[in-house]
Amino acid sequence: MTKKIGYPDKWRDYSHVTIVKGNFFPNVVSASAGNYQYDLAKLNKPVDRSEWYTTPSTVTAYNNPSANEIVFPAAILQPPYFDNNADDALNYGGIGMVIGHEMTHTFDDQGAQFDKYGNVKDWWTKDDYAKFKAKTQQVIDLYNTFTVLDSLHVKGAMTVGENTADIGGVSIAYDAFKMTKEGHDTTKVDGTYTPDQRFFISIAKIWRVKMKDQFLRYWINNNPHSPPMWRVNGPLMNTNPFYKAFNVQPGDSMYLPPKDRIHIW
Ligand SMILES: [Zn+2]
Repeated sequence: MTKKIGYPDKWRDYSHVTIVKGNFFPNVVSASAGNYQYDLAKLNKPVDRSEWYTTPSTVTAYNNPSANEIVFPAAILQPPYFDNNADDALNYGGIGMVIGHEMTHTFDDQGAQFDKYGNVKDWWTKDDYAKFKAKTQQVIDLYNTFTVLDSLHVKGAMTVGENTADIGGVSIAYDAFKMTKEGHDTTKVDGTYTPDQRFFISIAKIWRVKMKDQFLRYWINNNPHSPPMWRVNGPLMNTNPFYKAFNVQPGDSMYLPPKDRIHIW
């Protein structure tokens, strides 16, 4: 059978991993050791470009700059991200935003260092890269101001790549949405929200996450993504159509003066 790029031709072998019911810690150790051996076995071998770094049943998406690929496993292609029966506003604000996010990673602070073949190579003009760096510094400065818990702030430098991808992702998804029939419409759906409002509400819907304060503290110090609420509010504060859709005015908590709104991609 011809091997199709992006389609695994075999299931991964987990036979050397021992899982015993009710034995959490040894199970984790065995799985970690199994992963380590799996990675070690790749040494000195050609890159397997058909490999996925996640299972089809995991709700996630990723950009792998070494292969210049973006991957969306089956599990994320369902509500609230994607619904075949939903209107375009919901789908473009959902999976559309996720796809735009992954596309933008190719041009964030990390992805920008890889060329189209997936090799680390500086392919930017000096001038473009200097402008890009100045804009990502704006992203760092803005996200540093976001308060998460009492005096705890988002760490702008640690999350800059993901925040850049979020801001770019919303902008790409919105542009794509505007190319649909519904994107041109201003009629309220079911008499409640306009298509643009539904697009932005859908972005908020995909990031509905609850977590304990203790976990949030851990997240802030260890996760390269901003906490879910700031993955919505951060990009939308920088998206002009959001201001129009909800008539956001000076004094509103998400208002940024036009000169301070960041537009990268
Ligand atoms: Zn990301």
